Amino acid sequence: MRDSHDPGLSSTAEVSRNLAPLSALRRPAAADGPNAGGMKVIEAGVWRTADLYAAGMTKRDIVAACSANGLIRIRRGLYRKRSADSEVVRAAEHGGALACASALRHHGVWVLDDEQKTHVWLGEHGSRHAHTACDCVSHWDDSGAAFGVVSLVDALVQAADCLGQEAFLAAYESAWQQGKLTAADRRRVRQRLSARHRWLVDFARPDAESGLESIVRLRLARRGIRVECQVRIDGVGRVDFVLDGWLIVEIDGKENHDGPSERHKDLRRDALAAARGFGRLRFDYALVRYEWPIVEAAILAELSPARAQGRRG
Ligand SMILES: [Zn+2]
Ligand SMILES: [Zn+2]
Repeated sequence: MRDSHDPGLSSTAEVSRNLAPLSALRRPAAADGPNAGGMKVIEAGVWRTADLYAAGMTKRDIVAACSANGLIRIRRGLYRKRSADSEVVRAAEHGGALACASALRHHGVWVLDDEQKTHVWLGEHGSRHAHTACDCVSHWDDSGAAFGVVSLVDALVQAADCLGQEAFLAAYESAWQQGKLTAADRRRVRQRLSARHRWLVDFARPDAESGLESIVRLRLARRGIRVECQVRIDGVGRVDFVLDGWLIVEIDGKENHDGPSERHKDLRRDALAAARGFGRLRFDYALVRYEWPIVEAAILAELSPARAQGRRG
């Protein structure tokens, strides 16, 4: 309740009233402008003073909202909602919108664990601001500038150049598999990608079950290996990959394959697969992720005699 005897104290209700116009702010003005160059930035509780004025707040409203802690000043001319996402705020401290890998993570899309830096879109002529413990990756692509989070489509396009083709494919397939990309979005990503990355959109599938699966499929396809994923084999069950129609490759995930009963199950599946003419190789996440040359050499060595004899599944 507002204490009517103390004009300096704002009640929760008053803060809500002061912040109410902000709910109408879907995106900061700059991202909507004619120079936005196709980038879409989603509003996420960080605003310039001009945005607050445009939403109908007065200088007095801003002061009241700040003193009640509903609005917090990031720096001169820039404010955040108290509940704004900490990564979005960090990007704003750096001078722009959460982008690329950081935006993908924000959108719930799979990104490699070791990609922990904050990626920030500053616009073509934006300014980078100093802030504590800055290890941000700045993106200067496209014109305009805004605060918030770049759209999923834009983050994917940025990731292809910044993180590389494998990370792009893993993120794109993760987004598609989760139903986060419409057909129009997929066309837009393809359109906006550099020509050298476009084939990845055609290569991608909507049913990849993990980022690791996407990466392995891409690496093997690049070696000319025919790859089928998540294949159900009678008597054996579902396997991660079948290469050239006969070599089963399984990537053990986080589940425990060391226990005696799991080991028995694995051995039983191996025997059943062998009885049906399948070969089998098994790797774990660490091998695939950090020692790929060993994995690839093992696969190629296993496949090559059959390839030399013209064996195909
Ligand atoms: Zn990046
Ligand atoms: Zn920074």
